[in-house]
Amino acid sequence: MTKYAAAKPAPNWRETVSDPVTAAPLDGDIACDLAIVGGGFSGLWSAIKARERMPDARIVVLEGDQLGNAASGRNGGFCAPSISHGVGNAVARWPGEAETLVRLGRENLDGLEADLETYGIDGEFVRKGKLNVAATKWQAEGLRDMQANYARFGIETQFLEGTELDARFDTPRYHAGLFEPNYALVNPAKLVDGLAKTAIALGVQIFENTKVSDVANAKDSVRLTTGTGTVTAKQVILATNAAVPLLKRLRPAIIPIFDYTLMSEPLTDSQLAAIGWQGRYGIADSGNQFHYFRKTADNRILWGGYHALYFYGSGRGEELYQRDETNSVIEANFRDAFPALGDIGFSHRWGGIIDTSARLTTFVGTAMGGRVAYAAGFSGQGVSATRFGALTMLDLLEGKTTERTTLKMLSSRAVPFPPEPLRSFGVKWAQRDLAREDATGHRSLFLKTLDRFNIGFGS
Ligand SMILES: Cc1cc2nc3c(=O)[nH]c(=O)nc-3n(C[C@H](O)[C@H](O)[C@H](O)COP(=O)(O)OP(=O)(O)OC[C@H]3O[C@@H](n4cnc5c(N)ncnc54)[C@H](O)[C@@H]3O)c2cc1C
Repeated sequence: MTKYAAAKPAPNWRETVSDPVTAAPLDGDIACDLAIVGGGFSGLWSAIKARERMPDARIVVLEGDQLGNAASGRNGGFCAPSISHGVGNAVARWPGEAETLVRLGRENLDGLEADLETYGIDGEFVRKGKLNVAATKWQAEGLRDMQANYARFGIETQFLEGTELDARFDTPRYHAGLFEPNYALVNPAKLVDGLAKTAIALGVQIFENTKVSDVANAKDSVRLTTGTGTVTAKQVILATNAAVPLLKRLRPAIIPIFDYTLMSEPLTDSQLAAIGWQGRYGIADSGNQFHYFRKTADNRILWGGYHALYFYGSGRGEELYQRDETNSVIEANFRDAFPALGDIGFSHRWGGIIDTSARLTTFVGTAMGGRVAYAAGFSGQGVSATRFGALTMLDLLEGKTTERTTLKMLSSRAVPFPPEPLRSFGVKWAQRDLAREDATGHRSLFLKTLDRFNIGFGS
């Protein structure tokens, strides 16, 4: 008998924020130096970092819904020392610049931590590492390869088996683990709220429930149309992530992938002792269809991932945010991973959309004569990388050439996703083969062909 249905159908994160920022919608026509569309991590980091560069500018954020109501308030809070969706992805897709990407990823996490300190933002940032676990022989071999890859870049890891693994996570489901100490966790909603409060304190104006329906060139500026007013901006940042891109040419560059989460009731000390999970590190298993899990400050387990689903026609409908079939499967997987927790219940369940790009990394660029900058495609690793995306967009708007703007990862373009019905067909085929690879350890010819063309699918 499953228990997920009794859980509240909403993310728990926002409930942990006391006195969250709320803002009125735009009312009338305004002019500004910089307008930022989107009030998630990308938009809010852009606002703060823009203020650092332009002390006197009028900066506004236009959020179509509520700040952090999309991916930035629904994620697992894994905050990676990476801007390239991991070391393996950097090595596979940009071998010539992998070293730079790895270094910039670490610097970005250090910079993020330093910014939280500078502005006094309580995002529950803890850098206590991440444990990658393996359930099969080939997954354990994959962890050995991962360790060798990390060692090339001087990244410290510990390979764990037997009692050493039990001391970090005691479960019959997983037989090997790779612990990487340099990995952080955040509380996503607290981070959104802290960034928003900081932006407001720095004089940035925020408007919620202000959806931009059109971006158009105006004389020496850009005009943004909303339902309640017009914004004429010298420069614009588009930070809309998984929403349908306002610039038509970006539409084939991302697909919306739904990812689902269950959150358990808080664990008692004896339950925590029974699963051997004592520290504040996150855990992820190693399949293509993988679960990521972590503890909250009040010791609930967030259990996310496994089904990463694409719906025909790039579906983004409200009805897709809850899915019984997926919740049943991921609850069964939870029971399998945590037999010592018996039939512990769930307090929350929710879904969210990941803006998946074919290389699983962000792309950043400009439009409208350099007056508009955009960043999207963060896939399932945007908690830290959005800060990097924001810095790059600001470099581009300043017309600066920096180490960031010259990265091939950012400036080269991934193969676009094909239109329907080919898109659904291709994604379904890839998903089927990825699941088979998880079960057998063998990669299909189709997936190998996609690899050759640098096309990935996942979260
Ligand atoms: C379930 C889930 C789990 C995840 N787990 C992790 C994780 O553990 N670690 C990790 O690194 N990443 C994770 N991610 C990815 C990460 O959350 C995102 O990459 C990141 O939050 C993207 O931030 P963003 O600001 O670019 O986008 P968003 O948070 O999606 O913000 C975009 C904002 O733009 C607004 N908007 C869109 N269109 C318009 C418009 N026309 N006008 C005005 N506003 C508009 C939206 O309302 C939204 O608020 C996860 C994502 C999901 C969905």
